[in-house]
Amino acid sequence: YDDRDGKIWMDGKLTDWRDANVHILTHALHYASSVFEGERCYEGKIFLSRKHSERLHRSGEMMDMPIPYSVDELEAAKEEVIKVNNLHNAYVRVIAWRGAGEDMGVSSAKNPVRVAVAAWEWGDYYGDAKMKGAKLDIAKWKRPSPETIPTAAKAAGLYMICTMSKHAAEAKGCSDALFMDYRGYVAEATGANVFFVKDGEVHTPLPDAILNGLTRQTVIGMLKDRGITVHERHIMPEELAEFEQCWLTGSAAEVTPVGQIGDYTFEVGALTRDIAESYEKLVRS
Ligand code: PMP
Repeated sequence: YDDRDGKIWMDGKLTDWRDANVHILTHALHYASSVFEGERCYEGKIFLSRKHSERLHRSGEMMDMPIPYSVDELEAAKEEVIKVNNLHNAYVRVIAWRGAGEDMGVSSAKNPVRVAVAAWEWGDYYGDAKMKGAKLDIAKWKRPSPETIPTAAKAAGLYMICTMSKHAAEAKGCSDALFMDYRGYVAEATGANVFFVKDGEVHTPLPDAILNGLTRQTVIGMLKDRGITVHERHIMPEELAEFEQCWLTGSAAEVTPVGQIGDYTFEVGALTRDIAESYEKLVRS
């Protein structure tokens, strides 16, 4: 992704894509002092753009890394990037990190917080799994406790086990991995939240040790508008055997049906299809 034409917004100005580099002594590279957002732009407009910028600010606060640009400035930066790269349907990545500074060590007090915005055209996150139902592995790593790491932040450090679990899943021919959390409850996928259907009602993990995704919140609203009962609760892995349908939600994943998790299978049923189609309409409306 580094050798291509285009512009990336870095610290307040547009930079040639190929020149959007950082120094090797960047604090974030050594100590994961980085928070980010993944957003989708539909027909030139980013869905829930402001909410993403607000979450970036909250993630920064949780990491003791105040974001040096206001929400309005971030909004303007994203708009500029989409326009200058002539994008209509795209993925937008906003990242804030502690750069190289006067000092190099665990403390980042002397390392400035830097911000960049990149965007590029991007298709379905799970490819044709979107239609057939994705196949998920069960991760061997567990989502950590909020007493271990700020689990509500969208912070790079939380993705270390995501990359490892995704590699293990891909090696087994799966598109993603589902995590349990430190207590053993069903948690989330490596970049998406999870929902289940049983007897016409919907069950989804309580967001007490996972990212309470913006898509998750949107989909819960859509279900409630339909009068469907949504149980946000602790879900035991054994319950996977009883659920009839399953889907993932995320800004990148959108609403992706799941056909299999480990040895458990699910149908791509009417409610899954309805929510996936309605979400697609909503983001473009
Ligand atoms: N969980 C994780 C670990 C994620 O990376 C994401 C993607 N940001 C989500 C859930 C879904 O969040 P959202 O719907 O806000 O994109």
